[in-house]
Amino acid sequence: MSNVPEIFASQVFNDHVMRQRLPKDIYKALKKTVQMSKPLDKSIANVVASAMKDWAIERGVTHYTHWFQPLTSVTAEKHDSFISPLGDGSVILEFSGKELVQGESDASSFPSGGLRATFEARGYTAWDPTSYAFIKDNTLCIPTAFYSYGGEALDKKTPLLRSMDAINEQALRILRLFGKTDVKRVVTTVGPEQEYFLVERDMFHKRKDLIYTGRTLFGAMPPKGQEMDDHYFGTIKPRVAAFMKELDDELWKLGVLAKTEHNEAAPAQHELAPIFTTTNIAADHNELTMELMQKIAHKHGLACLLHEKPFAGVNGSGKHNNWSLSTDDGANLFEPGESPIENAQFLLFMAAVIKAVDEYQELLRISVATAGNDHRLGAAEAPPAIISMFLGEELEAVLSAIVNEDDDYVHHGKEDFEVGVSVLPKISKDATDRNRTSPFAFTGNKFEFRMLGSASSISDANVVLNTIVAEALCQFADALELSPTVEEDLHNVIQATIVKHKRILFSGDSYSKEWEEEAKRRGLYNLKTTAEALPHFVSEKNVKLFTKHRIFTEVEMHSRLEILMENYNKTVNIEALTALEMIKKEIIPAVCAYMKDLGETASYKQGLNVNISNALELKILSKLSNLSSALFTKAEKLERDMKKIPAEDVKGRADYYKDVIIPDMQAAREIADELETLVGESYWPYPTYGDLLFGVK
Ligand code: ADP
Ligand code: MG
Repeated sequence: MSNVPEIFASQVFNDHVMRQRLPKDIYKALKKTVQMSKPLDKSIANVVASAMKDWAIERGVTHYTHWFQPLTSVTAEKHDSFISPLGDGSVILEFSGKELVQGESDASSFPSGGLRATFEARGYTAWDPTSYAFIKDNTLCIPTAFYSYGGEALDKKTPLLRSMDAINEQALRILRLFGKTDVKRVVTTVGPEQEYFLVERDMFHKRKDLIYTGRTLFGAMPPKGQEMDDHYFGTIKPRVAAFMKELDDELWKLGVLAKTEHNEAAPAQHELAPIFTTTNIAADHNELTMELMQKIAHKHGLACLLHEKPFAGVNGSGKHNNWSLSTDDGANLFEPGESPIENAQFLLFMAAVIKAVDEYQELLRISVATAGNDHRLGAAEAPPAIISMFLGEELEAVLSAIVNEDDDYVHHGKEDFEVGVSVLPKISKDATDRNRTSPFAFTGNKFEFRMLGSASSISDANVVLNTIVAEALCQFADALELSPTVEEDLHNVIQATIVKHKRILFSGDSYSKEWEEEAKRRGLYNLKTTAEALPHFVSEKNVKLFTKHRIFTEVEMHSRLEILMENYNKTVNIEALTALEMIKKEIIPAVCAYMKDLGETASYKQGLNVNISNALELKILSKLSNLSSALFTKAEKLERDMKKIPAEDVKGRADYYKDVIIPDMQAAREIADELETLVGESYWPYPTYGDLLFGVK
C-alpha cells in the first residue's frame, strides 16, 4: 500500500514546498502575483528558480523543460540540463530566473496556421506561475505558455488564461452590483471525466490502423458487444486494477486529484474522474493524465486508446467537462443561495449561461470538433451535434414562473424563497442529473458539457465557455451598471433573457430523431461534421466576440482555423492511406490464401473422384471471389479519388475529404467486414474486435 498523503504531490513544487523553501517576502510576492495573475518580477524569479533547482536536484533531477501545449494534440517539451561550465573543465548546476520565466524555442516545426509566413520562426515560452512546476521522468517541468515573436499565441494555454481573465473581469462587475466588493477574483473550475479503452499491447501492434490512426478502420462486430450491460461498473480485472493503481499513484505524485476509476459501458472501456480544480490546472492535469495513461498501460502490457471512436458499433469515449464559477472566498456562483438577493444573483448567472449557449452554439460545437469526434456525436451513444441545455424540472419551473410573472409560484411544498418578484425553490441535486442525453446539463451547482472527445485537450471548450459567458455577463453589467433601479431591472433582464433564449432549453431525449426535427424548427444549429462546423469560427460575430475580450486577435483566429482544418484533412488522409495499405497488403492477400486452400481442397477432392459441382469449398470460394474483387474495385476508387484531392484552399479539401474520401472508405470497409466473417480465423491478418474488446484477461 502506498502512503497516499505522503506521496501526494511529492513531485510538485507547490504552495506547501514554496512556503518551506522561499524567503517569506519572496513567497508573499510570488503568491500575490499568482492570485492576481500579474507578471512576475525578475528579482523574485531568480530566488524562486534557485529554490526550485535545489529542490529538484535533491530528487535526482538533472534537466529542466518548458512544458507547453502547442496546437497539435500532444504536449511538447525540450530538455535542457542545469549544467553550466566553470571554465576550468568543471561544471556547476544552475537555473536562473530568466530560464524559469522565459524560454526560446524554434517554433518552425509546430503548427502556426500561416503566422510563420509573416512572423519570425522563433517561439517563446513563458512560465504560467498559476500552475505548479513538477518532476516527470527526472526532468523539472515548468508549465508554460507558447507564443510567437510577434506575440501571437501558438498554444492552447494562452487563450485559456486570457479567457479566465475575461470571465473574472465581467463576473466581478456583476458581483459588485450585488455589493460583493470584497471578492477579489472569480475563477472557473473544471473536473474532466476521462474515458479510455485498454487493449492488449501485442494486439495493438498487429493493427496498422490502431498504430497509425488510433482507431480501427475495419472490423466486424463480435457475437457479443455491450448489449448485456455487464461491463458498466462491473468488477475490474486484475491487470486493469493493477494499471489503475499505478496510474493513481503516479498521478497523485504529480498532485493530480484522481478520484474515481471505474469500468464504462463498452467492454474494455474505463473512466477516470479527478476532483475539480482551477481550469488551467485542470487542463494541465488532464494532459498529464492522458500521457501517463499511455505510458503506464505500456508497462502493463496494455495499450491505452484515447481515440473518440476506436471501434465502430461500440460506444466511443468522451470527456465530460464539469464547469463552474467560484469566488476567491470559495463561493460557488451556481449554488442557489439562502436569501432573495443571493437567488437573484444565481438566476442572473444562470441567465448568462443560457444566453451564452444559445447565442454561441456554433462555437461550442467547434470547440469539440475533430475528425475523431465526428464519429461519436450523434451516434446514439453521445450527444448529437445539436447544442441544447438541460436545467432540470425545478429550475425550468422557476424560469417559466419568472416569464409568466407567476408571483404565487410555490414549488412542491418545499422550502422556497423570494427573488425579486418571483420565488426560487431549493434545487435538489438529484433532480438535475436525470437527463444523461443532454449535451449541456446543469447538474446541481455546475454545468456538464458532454460533447468533448476523449483525445482532445479541454482547453478549447473552456476557452469558448469562459468567453461566451463573459460576454453575456458583460452585456448584463453594461445594462445594470447604468440603471437607477437595479432590483427591478434585474428581474427584467432575467425575464427578457429567458424569453429570448428559451429555445435552447430541452429536457427530452436528445438522442431521438424527433429532437433533430424539433431543433430544426427552433432554428438551432446542427453542424454534423467538423468540416461543416469549422468555417463558422471566423464569422463576423465570433471575431467580434474574441477580439473584444482579447482572447484572440483576428490574425490568431484565422491561423487557428487553418490549423484545425489542416488537422482534419491530415487525419482523414492518413486514415485513407492506412485503409488502402491494409486492403492491398493484408486483407486481399489473406482472402487469396484462404481461396487458394479452398481451391486446392476442391481439386484434391476431384482427384479422388469426388463430385465437386456442389462442393462447399467452391461456394465459399465464389463468394469470396466476388467480394474480394468488389473490395478491390472500392479500393481502386478510393485510390483514384485520393489523387483528385483539390489543391486549392483548406476548406475545399476538408469538404472533399468529408464528401468523397470518408464515404469511399466506408464503402470499402463494409465489404472488408463482410469478408472477415467468411474467412477462416487463422487466415485473418490482424486481431478482431472480439480479440481486442475481450482479450484483456
Ligand atoms: P458524474 O458526472 O459521474 O455523476 P459527479 O457529479 O460526482 O460525477 O462529478 C463529476 C465531476 O464534476 C467530478 O470531476 C467533480 O469533481 C466535478 N465537479 C464537482 N463540482 C464541481 C465544480 N463546482 N466545478 C467543476 N467541477 C465540479
Ligand atoms: Mg459525468
